[in-house]
Amino acid sequence: MPKGEITSSSRRIQERLLRLELVAAALILRDDRILLVWHKKLQEWLPPGGHIEQNETPDDAAKREALEETGLEVEISDSHTQQIEGVTRNLPVPFVVDVHNVGDHDHCCFYYLAEPKNRAQVVILKKDEVENHRWFTEHELNGSEVPIDVQQISRLALKQYVQARVSG
Ligand SMILES: [Zn+2]
Repeated sequence: MPKGEITSSSRRIQERLLRLELVAAALILRDDRILLVWHKKLQEWLPPGGHIEQNETPDDAAKREALEETGLEVEISDSHTQQIEGVTRNLPVPFVVDVHNVGDHDHCCFYYLAEPKNRAQVVILKKDEVENHRWFTEHELNGSEVPIDVQQISRLALKQYVQARVSG
């Protein structure tokens, strides 16, 4: 095979390999609704979230980002966490994990189910990153400007939230 061909084909593969960053998001549920925020830079409705920092676990990142972006102190739902002995910390199991594209790079995202610690808390947006918020019902997600993956994850989260309440 001519040398040039190898070079060009390996360059094509390289172009498809985008930078992968670890992020975490909070699927915040209350009264059969899910909280999404209008992300200024991406111009999309998304759950509160952001990059996982050094020395930070994904669940802590989700809680921190929720607090920073919305002012809400949230608790992660961790009904599937295994209690393993002899470890430093048992961490909640994410509800969904995926890789999605955000333009010039990809995000490996850990999504956690969460609820406000105190139901009386009000949303106070961090205006430089997000400029609007809305508590969506399942019905309101249909045909909305919410990206298709966020719609599907939100529906699954709402379903899980209702089921958990019914089963006590
Ligand atoms: Zn990123």
